[in-house]
Amino acid sequence: MACLMNSLIVPVQTLVKTLNLGTLSLGKCRMNAGEPAALTRMFTLKKSGIDYVGQVRVRPENPAVRIEVFNGSYFEEFEQLPAVVLDNLTEKVLRQVLKDKELPEEAKALIREHLEEQEPELNLDIAETGSERDLDKIFERLNTEYFNNRIQAKVLWGRDVKSRNKSGFRYGSYDERKKLIRIHPRLKQDFVPLSVLELTVYHEMCHQFAPSYKKNGTWQSHHPEFKKKEREFKDFKDARNWEKHNWHRLLLPSEENAELVTVPIATAIDLA
Ligand SMILES: [Zn+2]
Repeated sequence: MACLMNSLIVPVQTLVKTLNLGTLSLGKCRMNAGEPAALTRMFTLKKSGIDYVGQVRVRPENPAVRIEVFNGSYFEEFEQLPAVVLDNLTEKVLRQVLKDKELPEEAKALIREHLEEQEPELNLDIAETGSERDLDKIFERLNTEYFNNRIQAKVLWGRDVKSRNKSGFRYGSYDERKKLIRIHPRLKQDFVPLSVLELTVYHEMCHQFAPSYKKNGTWQSHHPEFKKKEREFKDFKDARNWEKHNWHRLLLPSEENAELVTVPIATAIDLA
């Protein structure tokens, strides 16, 4: 049985909203014990009289959302690249999953975040160029210093949500297929040490250096090889220590963050 994961390497394509993806029915939701944000759900797509089977997995790791269709011939139904079909399908499936009233808030938050990230970037900060928080400069510096310039990725500021995060703070993310690193815009703030911003970019670069793999059926992102590389960053300990004591300050939208505000104790999850 052919299996296509959303990890194909293709250029970023404009989403084609009018694709006829087929009639979607979701199977039962399986939650992972002890992981409120993690779920697996099978689905079927009825198209041209055939039932295609696939599954969606959501988990607080990188990537947060993984969709696969087990019948590779599904993608032969389309003229568009499989990755484009998969992007559209991902959106369709996630929107359907979100309608489930039983879905834990943590899982909902991950899905919403994923959907938001698929929207076009609105704040590509041209004004930032030249400042010490210039992401391209940080990326280039780290690439030379730690990776022999082997990492190939684009790095962008993500979009900020104007509300308080409930599911922990996500410093950055790495989209393997698009080779795209997104950094949370709240890390632009002056109270965030530069080393913390650098470590975030570095961490996401490590995801390309030490890719995720499957072990006993689960995806391992922050595996031993990854962690070994991550600890090579010169300010690793200081930056992690700062994060440990200050992550709650990052849960608030930037402009409300001028003064330290007490927020309810939540669990910091390394979602990146
Ligand atoms: Zn990570």
